[in-house]
Amino acid sequence: MTTRREGGCLCGSVRFVALGEPVRTLQCHCRACQRMTGSTSYAQSTYPMDAVQFSGEPMARYAHRSESSAKQVHVHFCPRCGTTLGLTFERWPEYRAISRGAFDDPNSMSISAHIWTGSAQTGVLLPAGTDCFQSARADLAGAPQAPERFDAPRMARASDA
Ligand SMILES: [Zn+2]
Ligand SMILES: [Zn+2]
Repeated sequence: MTTRREGGCLCGSVRFVALGEPVRTLQCHCRACQRMTGSTSYAQSTYPMDAVQFSGEPMARYAHRSESSAKQVHVHFCPRCGTTLGLTFERWPEYRAISRGAFDDPNSMSISAHIWTGSAQTGVLLPAGTDCFQSARADLAGAPQAPERFDAPRMARASDA
């Protein structure tokens, strides 16, 4: 049977169903995600575009131009309560990101990598045994970048150590 996960926004106006396993689940520490969430980072699961169906209130959309790639990133959010449900990307039109915190059971998927750790805030702890990338997983030409893996949890900023 196909795995099925449900979720929605804070007020319940937007709901979604995600079918199958996500491609990956990332926690992003970039400054854009910090501003978008108003928090330390943004955790999201990447799905093929057609694996997620939305219902209820149509989402509002904000177009942000990525400072690193200069491509558009679209933030999809509930027009009533403002919850960010996910992202779509000009650069990867076949995929969408779904906010981990919007799932009814966020813990049913584990974080596979931390990205943009170079801009992580003070007080952020990176886990042991998980791929951690100083910036993106791949450079702008698509070449994979080498992750760091730590034997023990480590503060993201050396000044905290
Ligand atoms: Zn809402
Ligand atoms: Zn980010």
